[in-house]
Amino acid sequence: MTNETILEVNDLKKHFDMGKGKSLKAVDGISFDVKRGETFGVVGESGCGKSTAGRTILTLYNSTEGEVLFKGTNVHGLSEKEQFHYFRNMQMIFQDPYASLNPRSTVKEIIAEPLEVHGIYKKKSEKLDRIYELLEEVGLNRDHANRYPHEFSGGQRQRIGIARALALDPEFIICDEPISALDVSVQAQIINLLERLQEEKGLTYLFIAHDLSMVRHISDRIAVMYLGHIVELTDSERLYEKPLHPYTQALLSAVPIPDPKIEEERERIIIEGDLPSPIDPPSGCVFRTRCPYAEDVCAEVKPKWQEAEEGRYVACHLYDDSISHMQPRHIEQAKN
Ligand code: SF4
Repeated sequence: MTNETILEVNDLKKHFDMGKGKSLKAVDGISFDVKRGETFGVVGESGCGKSTAGRTILTLYNSTEGEVLFKGTNVHGLSEKEQFHYFRNMQMIFQDPYASLNPRSTVKEIIAEPLEVHGIYKKKSEKLDRIYELLEEVGLNRDHANRYPHEFSGGQRQRIGIARALALDPEFIICDEPISALDVSVQAQIINLLERLQEEKGLTYLFIAHDLSMVRHISDRIAVMYLGHIVELTDSERLYEKPLHPYTQALLSAVPIPDPKIEEERERIIIEGDLPSPIDPPSGCVFRTRCPYAEDVCAEVKPKWQEAEEGRYVACHLYDDSISHMQPRHIEQAKN
């Protein structure tokens, strides 16, 4: 990871119009930056807005408000033609390798598609060589080029998806739950492949996942999302050692520990209730309807996004000195 910022997301919002004056606030003002060569994890339960955020960053959705600066340029301020050029540098690996590959196309045709759309190779032989090279880079071989997706296992299909994402030599890849649909035994192989490719090509990843165990080893920093908001952001090590936000604490308590004794003895924090509707989110803190520490102020005042420690951000009144009455009662409990 370098100090160079490759992606900057400023107060990004994506609201979907639901008619009758209502809107679904899938992403409601998120900000973060990603350094070149970094793996930046985005974690949250289903419906928290993480995949919508990824798609809006890639301009697959228009933003409602806010900026996405890729190497200093706001990609949402560009014309379609200019976005097309940027898209070469920003690619996506999808969750479901079964659904994301056209079943009627051969592997060769699937990987050739982005090369053809961008008119990269004029000579057929050069294009074919590039396809073979990509297959080998992801652990497949040239004999696989003329086969169809249904002839492969889930892990192999995800490798084809990765080869397609690499075809245009991008600098930045959004990995949208790339291992969630795979068997546990295959997940580690795909993570190892992504890590090797990152090292070899200096890639930057935004890695979206629904549970913290999946991003633990691959991410340098992690943002935890809840109902369209980022509630905590810090480096992976500190997040796992001592989560600050009550939602992060609950998510982490659900991650299995390989030691059966510790696993049996530790206390699980169960989040009560369902995720509220993003059409009508709670006032104040969006987590307050499920938070064990919630007080009246949590319904009245939206928590500030603040730096609790150097490089560590959280949105919760437990860490806000100006809401001092909440501090003595809960802060140690929440921090330890
Ligand atoms: Fe819980 Fe209040 Fe903190 Fe929200 S602001 S997470 S409701 S303590």
